[in-house]
Amino acid sequence: MAAGTPYVIAIVGAGPSGIYAAEALSQQTEVPVEIAVIDRLPVPFGLVRYGVAPDHESIRSIRNTLERTLERPEVRFYGDVNIGTDLRIEELRSAVDAVIYAYGAGSDKRLDIPGEDLTGSIAAVEFVAWYCGHPDVHPDVDQPDRDSLLMAAAIDELISSSSQAVVVGVGNVALDVARVLIKSAPELIDTDMPDDVLESHAHKGIREVRILGRRGPAYTAFTTKELRELGQLPGVDVFVAPHDLELDESGQAVLERNKVAARNMTVLREWAERMPTGAARRIHLDFWTRPIKIIGTDRVTAVEVERTMIDPDGYVAGTGETHTVPAQLVVRSVGYRGRALPGVPYDDSTGRVPHAEGRVIRDHGFSANEYVTGWIKRGPTGVIGTNKSDALETVTSLLADISDGAVVRRGRSGDLDRLLASRGIRPLGIGAWHKIDAAEIELGLKHGRRRTTLAHRSELLAAAEEDHKSNVP
Ligand code: NAP
Repeated sequence: MAAGTPYVIAIVGAGPSGIYAAEALSQQTEVPVEIAVIDRLPVPFGLVRYGVAPDHESIRSIRNTLERTLERPEVRFYGDVNIGTDLRIEELRSAVDAVIYAYGAGSDKRLDIPGEDLTGSIAAVEFVAWYCGHPDVHPDVDQPDRDSLLMAAAIDELISSSSQAVVVGVGNVALDVARVLIKSAPELIDTDMPDDVLESHAHKGIREVRILGRRGPAYTAFTTKELRELGQLPGVDVFVAPHDLELDESGQAVLERNKVAARNMTVLREWAERMPTGAARRIHLDFWTRPIKIIGTDRVTAVEVERTMIDPDGYVAGTGETHTVPAQLVVRSVGYRGRALPGVPYDDSTGRVPHAEGRVIRDHGFSANEYVTGWIKRGPTGVIGTNKSDALETVTSLLADISDGAVVRRGRSGDLDRLLASRGIRPLGIGAWHKIDAAEIELGLKHGRRRTTLAHRSELLAAAEEDHKSNVP
């Protein structure tokens, strides 16, 4: 750790991108730093807790590495502090020497087709938030402060009354959604899903999931390990139509230059040749298929889809050949999208904060003390580890600006705490997380599970106050 008056850096967002930025700042020895990692939720870890599928425990365990960064002496976690509500951006900026925005992409892209807002048509971002136990989707009974997200009760009702689901999009989130939809409750018990989410899976009726790809099999956004997993689910038949796998020249060219696409194609070909076992649960992958209308009066009953092709300019085009797929649930998994945070520059056309190498652009020039990293910087792409190199680029820019004197050290240590205290805001620190962690393990063990996520904010706050017997399973 470098000695001397520290530069005080606030990071807005305690997901992987924010914590990797804290790690890069705390590991350098040139400049003394004090780092405040702020999150509106009472707990840290962002998408590692609220995005990575609960049955992907090895990816979720990245949390342990992130936790160690939050425990470093120059880093402090400020949970349950909402920037934009508890503190305005300008107030935060004046209390610290520099700010790094790392608040991710919490919204969803739309399909812009008729019927998209019918009951039964939901965004993957909502479904994922539900099964991971995000407090926005699991509001306290006495605090129905929802914004655009659905309520847990609505999702519970949808999955219990649906037997056929359509998932639009062929990315990794679509795979997560399809897998979680088709798995039974006993197959999900070895996860940390909240108890009531697991209970919903126990009475869900989903027997068929149809994944729609608007382009051909060469253009999937899957990683092969995740794709392969879909074909390994016991008691589930996976169907791919052989004629969907015929490649035109452009598809062939993609496979020649893209190893992941080529590996995915091998998996898909193997599935196309498989004999169905007659399993009661089925997953279909339909390529060259896009939804053009979600059908229903009170709620979704079907999806009208159109066969597609690639036009001479390389764009997806409809062939005019349509048919109807019965479905009671449609999950739109066509990508996440960043949201505007009041007071922070935002480009609505990209859903991102405008920047160059992580330096925020405000009023056509670089802002003196604002930086950005993660999905709100580059868009919702890459795996968790991608955020590490991304954060490093941003922190390198910040350190260069410190070295050039563009970021001024103003002796701000303690100012943020005083400002929060003057508002009556009590941030939850890493100690509170340790208590919540212990409470979740304890709750899980009670029901023979590894851990159980506490989904409601009130439960998280109560656990943060309590002493628990042990945090060792
Ligand atoms: P994604 O990888 O960008 O995939 C989005 C999919 O939606 C693409 O197949 C895209 O097709 C399709 N799409 C977009 N607009 C569409 C439209 N209007 N109609 C039909 N299809 C449309 O996004 P994601 O699945 O949300 O994943 C986000 C990021 O998180 C990715 O980088 C992903 O790898 C990562 N992630 C990783 C894991 C893991 O490693 N286990 C798990 C979850 C997420 P086109 O290509 O035709 O546009």
